[in-house]
Order: sequence, then structure tokens, then C-alpha cells
Amino acid sequence: MVNEFRTHLARADAPTPSVEAILHAVIPDKYVDHTHADAVVAITNTRDGLARIRQAYGETVVVIPYVMPGFDLSRACAQRLKAEMGPKTLGVILMNHGVFS
Ligand SMILES: [Zn+2]
Repeated sequence: MVNEFRTHLARADAPTPSVEAILHAVIPDKYVDHTHADAVVAITNTRDGLARIRQAYGETVVVIPYVMPGFDLSRACAQRLKAEMGPKTLGVILMNHGVFS
């Protein structure tokens, strides 16, 4: 996958795109922001992180269990978003990782 990204660059000297680039593409919005927000990572790294995230965000986020970044994470997000995303969805919380909004 990383090699495929390199072969599709517009400029040969451009940095290699992130392995999370495909994940941006599976979120059906024009603009997608991804951060590794310290506050969210700190909360999701706790034993009761999922409950705390639900307490903070309610049903406005789709929560994805930890998956190593790359194609498998993108596929997991595509499947969960298709099943769980609704009109109130504002973003995605990746447990132990960060936020997509
Ligand atoms: Zn990330």
C-alpha cells in the first residue's frame, strides 16, 4: 500500500503519504481532520476509556476499537461507519489513537 501511494505522487520529491490516507477517504465528508489529541488519547488509554468517551460524546461519535493504522484500520472504519453513522454523527474516536472529525 505504501508503494502504491509513492507511485501516485504528483511530485517525485513529495513526502510519502500517511498510511492513514485511505481512512480519510472512507469518511463521507468533503473535509476530514485527524488529530492525535492528547486529551482523547489519555481518556481512551484508561481502563474505562470507552465508558468515559460515551459519557463525554454520547452518540455523536462512532467509536472504533484499536486497530494498527493502515489498511486494516481503514477497512474497520468503513464497516463501522456504514453500520453506525447517522445524522447526529460528528466524528470518529479511534480508541488509543485519536479523533477524526
Ligand atoms: Zn492517526
